[in-house]
This record gives sequence, C-alpha cells and structure tokens, in this order.
Amino acid sequence: MRILITNIGELTTNVAEGDDVCGTLHDVAVLVEGERVAWVGPAADAPDADEIVDAAGRAVIPGFVDSHSHLVFGGDRAAEFEARMQGQKYAAGGIRSTVAATRAATDDELRARLRGFLDEMLAQGTTTVEIKSGYGLDVATEERLVRLAAEVTPEVTFLGAHVVPAEYADRGDEYVDLVTGEMLDACAPHAKWIDVFCETGAFTVPQSRRVLEAGIARGLQPRVHASQLGPGEGVQLAVELGAASIDHGTYLTDDDVTALAASDTVLTLLPGVEFSTRQPYPDARRLIDAGVTVAIACDTNPGSSFTSSMPFCIAVAVRDMRMTVAEAIHAATAGGAAALRRDDIGRIAPGMRADLVLLKSPSRVHLAYRPGVPLVETVWKDGVRFA
Ligand SMILES: [Zn+2]
Repeated sequence: MRILITNIGELTTNVAEGDDVCGTLHDVAVLVEGERVAWVGPAADAPDADEIVDAAGRAVIPGFVDSHSHLVFGGDRAAEFEARMQGQKYAAGGIRSTVAATRAATDDELRARLRGFLDEMLAQGTTTVEIKSGYGLDVATEERLVRLAAEVTPEVTFLGAHVVPAEYADRGDEYVDLVTGEMLDACAPHAKWIDVFCETGAFTVPQSRRVLEAGIARGLQPRVHASQLGPGEGVQLAVELGAASIDHGTYLTDDDVTALAASDTVLTLLPGVEFSTRQPYPDARRLIDAGVTVAIACDTNPGSSFTSSMPFCIAVAVRDMRMTVAEAIHAATAGGAAALRRDDIGRIAPGMRADLVLLKSPSRVHLAYRPGVPLVETVWKDGVRFA
C-alpha cells in the first residue's frame, strides 16, 4: 500500500537545514509505503500511489513522541487539584492515594483506562508514548502495571522507586531492597527502562544509585526523575550513569547545565507539571543556549499533570519557558525520540517510521498560537491512518 500525501504547504522533517532545527520544506509531498516513509520531495515530482491525500497547503509534522507518562492507574485526584488551586502546596506524598486506587483496580479496569488515554493522545497527534509503572509499589501490582503497559508500547519503564509506600514509612532502605530484588525480578522482563524519583520526600541519591545500578545490571536502561521540587544531585547521577533522560529539571544549578550539555542525556521538560502545580517554570532558553538537548513530554498522571495534550504542552513551553515554536515542536518530536534513544521516529525522511500528523492549519506555529484548539486533522501511525 502506497499513500501519497501531497500539496503539503509546510513540512517539518526535523532533518536540520542550517539554523532551522525543524528542517522546513514547502510545497512538498511524502510517500508512505507500508509502515515507513519511502520518499520526500517536491509535490510536482511526486510518484504514483494507491491513495492520494491532498493536504491542500496545510502543515505536516512528525507524530509527537511523548517520552514521559504514567498512564496505568486507578482513580483520580480532582479534589486535590481543586484544593491546590485554592492555595494548598503540592507534595510528592499525594502519589500514595493513587496507589490505593490502583491496587484495588482489576487488570481490565486498568486496561480500559489505558486504552482511553492512548486514544485521546493519538487524536492529539501523539504516535509514540513511554509509560511508567509506579502506582503499585508492591511486587504483584508493579508487575501488573509494566505488563499492561507492554501490551500497548515498547517504551515501558519500571518505576517501583516512585515513592516509598505507606507500609514502608521510615524504612526506605528496606523498600529499596524490595525494588532492587524481588520487584525488579518480576518487572524487568516487561520493561526497557529503569527509573527513580530522586528527590527530597522520595529517594535519596544513594538509594537512587542502587535502584538504577540494579536495573542496569538486569539490562534495563536508566532515566531519572530529579530536581522537580528543589535542587539536588540527581542530574549528576543521571549523567554519570549515562541516563537517556533526566526529567523535570525545574531547579538546575549551573554545574547541572554544564554536565548535561557535555553529555548524551536529554533534559525532558514537563510544562504541564508547572502549569498544574503553579511551580516556577524551568528556563528552557538557558538550557538550549548552553547546548543541552531538550525534550517536551506531558507527564500525564493524576497528581501533578493530568493533560495528555502535546499541543498544550508546546503552547506552554513557548509562552512560559521561552522556547521558540520551532524549538518546542522539535523537542516534542525529535527531542522525545532522543530521550527514548530511538532513531526510527521523530523525523520525516526515507526509512523512518511513517508517524505523521496533518494539521488543520497552514503552519505548525498555530499549535502555540491557538492554544486549546483541536488542530489535528489526520494522524498516521506506522503508515496506518486514524481519523
Ligand atoms: Zn513522572
């Protein structure tokens, strides 16, 4: 099956052209063959195909790569959000209320919820999503969460070290024994990544190191939640261990920024978190100007960021984190791919997976310029079209 998307007014390839990180082309066509992109070139030179899609001058971008989400959980925390908006402070311990609801939910309940989130993400242009465990915090439930996530994505992260569960209060080291032992044994077969919340109120730097090193020894690749609520040593640990990404990075020292710029570790910004917790936004301008590779992700979770909309996060990153529109869209596509160490997604070029989004607008700028407006016309994932 050959699909030709032609008369594309503005194509974001992410194949960099000089100063243009988005590699923007005009009046072009893209040929999709099976699940891959086969050809990109001037619309006038387009080859024949079985199906022709007329983009009518509108914009096409790569599918969003949402490299940070927590989609398998029970319940919600709308009341907590409402209280927070009335002045209560966000604390990491709120995770425990979702843990209780998640443990009580059946596999089918969690699966139905998960599929609902994936549908709403796809409708908003997200074609790849990373999913973390971390709302089970016991061996049986964490195993269920990574197993359910693995049904829908290859990008599964074991986050047993999300927070210390109530039954291990004041016994964090014992809980880390469980995470790095029996829980890791149960979860590693379903996961690609190991993650830890390295933060005051969650796990210390030595505990985080134990978790990550145990995961690495089992063949998992590291990524780290750090510096969300205050500065710490999580970034340095992530860089030292060769983590694919450090996520949040709301409070970074100059040494953190220097270390990141010299590393292959991506800094994943989560604008929905600062938006939903009223924390100060990290300064993406400072990071990009220093040479740090940046990704944007939703961090969809019931506590600190219950949006699944990459366009919303792009709009916030542009308005409040001082990113250009081009930088924000690049971060939400190619940046996410880098954060997942994937070289087959995040760009539009021959040989890449055919993950494409046709917008309703003539330019990608509208994603930030028209916040909250549904601008996704058509999505192809692996060459398969969704409405
Ligand atoms: Zn997270």
